[in-house]
Amino acid sequence: MIIVMHPDATQQEVDGVVDRLRSLGADVRVGREEGRTIVEGSIESLLHADSPWDDFPGVDRVVPQVPGGRRVGREFKPESTVVSVGGVEIGGGALVVVAGPCAVESREQLLSTAEAVAVAGASILRGDAFKPRTSPYTFQGLGKAGLEILAEARSRTGLPFVAEVIDPRDVELVSAYADLLRIGTRNMSNFPLLREVGRQSKPVLLKRGRASTVEEWVDAAEHVYNEGNHGIVLVERGVRGFDGAARNTLDLTAVPVAKELTHLPVMVDPSHAAGRREFVAPLARAAVAVGADGVMIDVHPSPKSALVDGPQALLPEEFARLMRDLRAVADVLGSS
Ligand code: PEP
Ligand code: MN
Repeated sequence: MIIVMHPDATQQEVDGVVDRLRSLGADVRVGREEGRTIVEGSIESLLHADSPWDDFPGVDRVVPQVPGGRRVGREFKPESTVVSVGGVEIGGGALVVVAGPCAVESREQLLSTAEAVAVAGASILRGDAFKPRTSPYTFQGLGKAGLEILAEARSRTGLPFVAEVIDPRDVELVSAYADLLRIGTRNMSNFPLLREVGRQSKPVLLKRGRASTVEEWVDAAEHVYNEGNHGIVLVERGVRGFDGAARNTLDLTAVPVAKELTHLPVMVDPSHAAGRREFVAPLARAAVAVGADGVMIDVHPSPKSALVDGPQALLPEEFARLMRDLRAVADVLGSS
């Protein structure tokens, strides 16, 4: 059970809660989170909704630590979280566009894409050095060399970058280079990996599992948050549906649902949802219209020769056009 104290709770009131919990046999932990004093007590018998804790002097809210009671939930923190990525704020009201190739394939390919997306107005670069490929017989990424190329692109363009991490043993390496760590759809339920990124100082983009409910996705975020890393951004990227017309079914309903459930920013990746470049722009415009805090777009200078996900990549000039559309939609909504 987590007891969130009022911002102006006195030390005496905090001590009162701690003493009461201890007298009931709880292990107690007191800390500061989100600018509040938090008292955490470990015993199950205190979980009942009709417990008198809400009336205890100095107590603001009680969040039961049961399935559905979460620190990433609005009941724990009603105000929306803003995640800062190398100076770029996600969730602060301005639309954030992440763009770049699916994978770093060469220095030339990455640097030219980075320059193009920076000129078009993207604020974060994407590009992976470690790829979680469904088939083991496909390109798996350049590894550390890819991270070095991404770091060079960052110093040339000034754009912070996001890169995927797929193995707990690589978390520190990716974290040493990237501004933002990404957990992909295939690893949303890889709890040791979630806990490892939860121990890093770099924020995390957490993609929704391709067959996961919004509740399961938010629970995955809780694993990261509980380790101390509170910079988490959720990314809807399409789920497996019954209709194979597009690669996945983009669940735009998940955006307002996740925003109601949690205080975390929510972004949308229309590229991995669509799997085809023709669908990327309309889905991206819809994502902004539905209230996403940002979008993530695959861009490649030569999609036909891309080693990964070429069919969904926009050419740089198509991306520039999409940026103009997205600004127009965001302007109408007052979120540009
Ligand atoms: C990606 O963003 O490159 C990626 C692999 O996405 P997902 O994990 O959503 O398939
Ligand atoms: Mn991809």
